[in-house]
Amino acid sequence: MLIIKTIAELKTYLKNEQPSLKIGLVPTMGAFHQGHTSLIKRAVQECDRVVVSIFVNPLQFSPTEDLAQYPRQLATDSDLCAELGVAIIFAPNLEEIGITGDASTQGQLTTITPPATMTSKLCGKYRPGHFTGVATIVTKLLNIVQPNRAYFGQKDAQQLAIIRRLVTDLNLPVEIIGCPIIREASGLALSSRNQYLSSTEKSQAAIIYQSLKSAAQEFFRGETEADNLITIVKDQLAITNEVKLQYVELVDPLTLKPLAQVETIGLLAIAAHVGNTRLIDNMILRQPIIAIDGPAGAGKSTVTRRVAEQLGLLYLDTGAMYRAVTWLVMDAGIAVDDEDAIASLVKDVIIDLIPTDSPEIPLGVQINGQEVTKVIRTPEVTANVSAVAAQAAVREQLVKAQQLCGAKGGVIAEGRDIGTNVYPDADLKIFLTASVEERARRRSIDLKNQGQKNIDLPQLQQEIQARDDKDSSRAIAPLRKADDAVEVITDGLTIEEVVAKIVNLYQVSYQ
Ligand code: C5P
Repeated sequence: MLIIKTIAELKTYLKNEQPSLKIGLVPTMGAFHQGHTSLIKRAVQECDRVVVSIFVNPLQFSPTEDLAQYPRQLATDSDLCAELGVAIIFAPNLEEIGITGDASTQGQLTTITPPATMTSKLCGKYRPGHFTGVATIVTKLLNIVQPNRAYFGQKDAQQLAIIRRLVTDLNLPVEIIGCPIIREASGLALSSRNQYLSSTEKSQAAIIYQSLKSAAQEFFRGETEADNLITIVKDQLAITNEVKLQYVELVDPLTLKPLAQVETIGLLAIAAHVGNTRLIDNMILRQPIIAIDGPAGAGKSTVTRRVAEQLGLLYLDTGAMYRAVTWLVMDAGIAVDDEDAIASLVKDVIIDLIPTDSPEIPLGVQINGQEVTKVIRTPEVTANVSAVAAQAAVREQLVKAQQLCGAKGGVIAEGRDIGTNVYPDADLKIFLTASVEERARRRSIDLKNQGQKNIDLPQLQQEIQARDDKDSSRAIAPLRKADDAVEVITDGLTIEEVVAKIVNLYQVSYQ
């Protein structure tokens, strides 16, 4: 890993890299905690080279704020980055980046001013000039590094919304990735400023999260009125004198417009002082997303369909989408390893998943208008699907479609990369698995019921193992248990028991 302090050196390094490599940028102010490491880990997973910038940006501090006191720890931050597989730390000084001082000096340079509708509320109301400072430094860093992707935490929800808007408005060629909030066991959101808290203050601060959680619980019980949800937060915070509320607002997470009611999705955001420390936190309120991942034959489809039915969620069978594309490839006579031909075939593909009347009947599947529900389940398609699903173009196209499906929540999706890749901020993640022997036994019963004779159990075991190996070892979004997924091992459990377990896990997480 290199620690680079000048733009010229960074440019030389990046110029020597192949243009096809995916560059990820994680812009930070240092003083790393697990929130930062989660962004860095995700970037390392998704990109070929990761640049972490460490720069305490004076332009986003007002003269009365904690610029001088803000923790700086380049040595330990660098060690952590090296361990995580970061290629470069970019740590310029003020002069190098062209900034003269704090927010009061903004008039001395060209700045990026986000729309007032996005900065006049939430934190912006109390931190004048802050988001101009943020937008200006982020634009500089994006221009210097020119990454394909840049990673930001959902903890700074207003910042994330403003940066997304900035990238759209200025046509910047970068994809902005928002990553979930990481919390201590008490629920306190991690922040570099938590270093300012005494241990008593730290435990007092946990009520901020508790108050958001109480509102979320009421939301999941059907409360959608902003006034009522905000009152829940205020009432809970009023229990203590130690936490002084600055604001709590319910807004649209993308436009930041105030909401009178959550129709599909809302951002409940809060700022409060504990002692002299200002803390922020937030929660997205939307109908839930449940991710079910696991290896072949673990019973995902049946279980997911039934949980969808019980909780009134949309059921998304992502395996059916990969199967449909595989069928299309084979039907077109394209070799399953012909990545270029498959990439152009998949570019404009339209897949429809059609709900059925009963949770016992799998979804209907159409690809480009053609009915393929049955043919995608043949042994030929099954034998080829892992090879097709491993290809970058196929995954990119299908993951985008799956994310669109879940944009407003209310979805339960099953597959191999749902909790790790498609919906990394899903409300509940399950990793459903069983021993290979058990899965082969179940598959043989299915096949028998479909009228197949002479089933070779050891061969079935081998096929299942081979598909697991391929799905787990591929380069892009391999099958693995998400760190925050609950593992459910289904050996010896009936379908009803597994369904009840998942429904219960969902319900307890909101009670
Ligand atoms: O679940 P099902 O057996 O229908 O999945 C078929 C194949 O599709 C899997 O073996 C895997 O190769 C691929 N798949 C995937 N990512 C998903 C879902 C399925 O790669 N999210």
